[in-house]
Amino acid sequence: TMLAAGTLGGVFGLLLASYLSRPVDPVAELDRALAANEFKPYVQPTFRLKTGDIIGCEILARWEKPDGRLIPPMSFIPLAESSGRIEKLTWQLLKTALRELQPEMKQDKLFKLSVNITPRHLLGDRFIDDLRKTVASSSVSTRQVVLEVTEREELADLDKATDVVKELGELGFRVALDDVGIGHSGLSYIQRLGARILKIDKFFVDAITRDQSAIVVVQMLVALARELDMSVVAEGIEHQEQVDALIACGVEEGQGYLVAPPLSLGRFKQFLDVRRVS
Ligand code: C2E
Ligand code: CA
Ligand code: CA
Ligand code: CA
Repeated sequence: TMLAAGTLGGVFGLLLASYLSRPVDPVAELDRALAANEFKPYVQPTFRLKTGDIIGCEILARWEKPDGRLIPPMSFIPLAESSGRIEKLTWQLLKTALRELQPEMKQDKLFKLSVNITPRHLLGDRFIDDLRKTVASSSVSTRQVVLEVTEREELADLDKATDVVKELGELGFRVALDDVGIGHSGLSYIQRLGARILKIDKFFVDAITRDQSAIVVVQMLVALARELDMSVVAEGIEHQEQVDALIACGVEEGQGYLVAPPLSLGRFKQFLDVRRVS
């Protein structure tokens, strides 16, 4: 009977444990969070390397859980994409950022707002229509909106992607090729896509002050960008020495913790105010 009681207790324990940690369906949890507006557009400023002037910002999604935890994008973007929720999530983030940053973007007509777009979303049938509607409802110019497309995954259909990028350009939007150098796509991809901005991944920025070969890679990317009439942005800048090395390589714009981490929209507006006064 001792054994039976122990077994029974064990069974109850297991049941209790599985009840307490019962797995919520992660897609249902995404839907709940979308409906509750828990995904927030945090933004990281982009700046001119030589002057420190703020020239725009990039939306980086954060999930603000009801318990106060802040969940990073890599923990929910892949699921949002595979479950078909990425569209709704992206437009929610962009709409909110456009609404909140409209005064700043109208005051500074050169201010650019960047948003990350997954390749599959970009190539979807509704992308351009949805984008136009979202931006049109904000009264911000399409020229102030940048679409960052990652090079980490191959854009399945480069011909189609090239057409989409061209059409976006005709509407005034700019496309940035993100994470350049760490993806698996070749140089022909950069050459053909027609993106206006080339973003150098943090990987090279990390290495640039200790590794001569990283300098060579960055110089090569800058030369390539010039040839293709693209501007260059370096990401993940944490130290002034990196700024100096990037300037020496011909890079003009950047972002990173040196100036600011991704900030809530409220904090970003404060950040801009402080910069304006000083
Ligand atoms: P990414 O587009 O390459 O963004 C740069 C990442 O580097 C961001 O991570 C940013 O917070 C981080 N970062 C920026 N400066 C520094 C720095 O100085 N030091 C360090 N250590 N990190 C820095 P985050 O926010 O975790 O985003 C990771 C990735 O998730 C992004 O990489 C982007 O590919 C994706 N992502 C973020 N938000 C969205 C979104 O709304 N939609 C989509 N489709 N993807 C998103
Ligand atoms: Ca990006
Ligand atoms: Ca990037
Ligand atoms: Ca990156």
